[in-house]
Amino acid sequence: MRTALLAITEELKRLKASGVREVCISEESLSDLRRAVRAQASQGTLVTAGAVEEAPAPLAANREWPIAAQTAPLAEKIETLSAVAPKLEQSKPRTTTTRPAAIAIKGGEGNASDFPAPPKVVLPEGDKKKRWQALYDQVLQDPVCRAHVRPGKKIVLGVGDLDSKIFFCGEAPGADEEEKGEPFVGPAGQLLTKMIQGMGLSREEVYIGNIMNWRPEMPVSESGIQVGNRPPTSAELAYCLPYLKAQLEIVNPDLIVALGSTAAQGLLGAGSFKTLGEIRSQWKLFAGKPVMVTYHPSYILRNPTNRSKRSIWEDLLKVMERAMIPISEKQRTFFLDK
Ligand code: URA
Repeated sequence: MRTALLAITEELKRLKASGVREVCISEESLSDLRRAVRAQASQGTLVTAGAVEEAPAPLAANREWPIAAQTAPLAEKIETLSAVAPKLEQSKPRTTTTRPAAIAIKGGEGNASDFPAPPKVVLPEGDKKKRWQALYDQVLQDPVCRAHVRPGKKIVLGVGDLDSKIFFCGEAPGADEEEKGEPFVGPAGQLLTKMIQGMGLSREEVYIGNIMNWRPEMPVSESGIQVGNRPPTSAELAYCLPYLKAQLEIVNPDLIVALGSTAAQGLLGAGSFKTLGEIRSQWKLFAGKPVMVTYHPSYILRNPTNRSKRSIWEDLLKVMERAMIPISEKQRTFFLDK
């Protein structure tokens, strides 16, 4: 058993070194692994499996975030979002089980050759709501988006205040997002909502989008469920970028917050930096808008220390300053204590 665990550890380390951030593993295998690790540990064996060391801490602790303003409970916020945000229902027919041959997915990995040229978006004249709705209709009808969304799951476009000064940009929908058809509603999204509340804003007062409009596919388990997530390929990012640009054109925010290195890559170009550390906490430019590059909230879920929270918070303080959002003395000191 120990040999098997070490082999798995080595493979996980190799994958991690090659840039893979998440692996697909069934619940059953995960429980087997946990059982084996517990058994080894109780026998006094040193277990060094990276996956075990990096298992997220309990979520309640991860999501701790000071809230600046008096705001409604999170669940209520998320419930009310649908009412405030642009229409979210996907009433139009969505994915079918047949994929157009030209964009057949090889191993679900979205190879460059699978993608036609990025879509052309022409927004109609009219107010922001009308233009957003036209964009949403186009995304829902897009054959490439439709072909990449699994049956029963949803295409995801941004939500929020179309007049927001701040546009939060993430990477791609995950399991919760493709279920609900709304960005950032899973654990990382709930933490993002708290960060926004820490800034004295509500989720409804900002705009939240992703570069990608569908959850990047990975092989499914026997029961047909996709367990893990993978970062989008550059071909996938390039395909969806016009939809992100169109949302920026509609919202016309004062600034963008790029959450994590994939979002930064999508906006600034994959070749423009090697590590997030090189560009984090700095102002960059995309489509004529200032971009603050910071960590993805899932980084805090994996590293729920005051140090990592303070890092992302300092970036958000810069965002608040630039967006001329008042900052209290208390807000300035968030996460400075031990
Ligand atoms: N992570 C993202 O980048 N976007 C989401 O919508 C959810 C998780």
